Amino acid sequence: MSKINKDYIIETLEYLKSLEIYNVAIMLLASVGNADDNYDNTYLSFDELCEVIKELTLMKVEGKMPVSLDIVSTGESLCPWEIYLPLKHLGMEKYITEWKSEKFDTTLEDDEFGCTAGKDSLCIDGYGNVFGCSLMVSMHELIAGNTKRESLVDIWNNSHIFNEMRRNKLCSVEGPCSNCNLLHSCKSGCRACAYARTKKLNGSDMRCPLSNS
Ligand code: SF4
Ligand code: SF4
Repeated sequence: MSKINKDYIIETLEYLKSLEIYNVAIMLLASVGNADDNYDNTYLSFDELCEVIKELTLMKVEGKMPVSLDIVSTGESLCPWEIYLPLKHLGMEKYITEWKSEKFDTTLEDDEFGCTAGKDSLCIDGYGNVFGCSLMVSMHELIAGNTKRESLVDIWNNSHIFNEMRRNKLCSVEGPCSNCNLLHSCKSGCRACAYARTKKLNGSDMRCPLSNS
């Protein structure tokens, strides 16, 4: 979801249904790579995000959604700010269950960032560079190793970047998230987005409206 496609989401879902595609997931634009470079032109304002979340949520509640739609939040949490804050602003918090199930399963501990990068997941680019997550591939300082030079097992076990990702806990978050009373339920958004904007793996997800208030 971005400023560019926000007005075409329903149309796109209808089109996908016409192609017999019934399960669809969309994600709020991550502020990495070109999206970070063009942040002001691409990133939804909070009012725009509220508008989109309201429309999609009401369609779900009223049974009018053409496909089975999921909004993938960039951090693993039962209360991702991308969905929860707009619903709260609209007085529609109770509808968070339309998007996030209490049966949501996570391997993460309570004090962990809501990020699986380097813990449960990795990504390898076309050059053999290994990252914790595909959203990190534009940030070469987050390369954990290269499969042309090292074994993937060694990279997984010994990379200092992966070890830093594993060591990072919510209690070490820096910036606005550190003072947020939603920290343990939201889990501080996306680490790749936080890093792109703050250059710190324990920085705050600056896309969040509470980080900017
Ligand atoms: S300020 Fe941080 S912890 Fe609070 S809702 Fe936003 S991303 Fe989550
Ligand atoms: S960087 Fe972490 S939080 Fe962000 S999308 Fe990747 S796994 Fe999720």
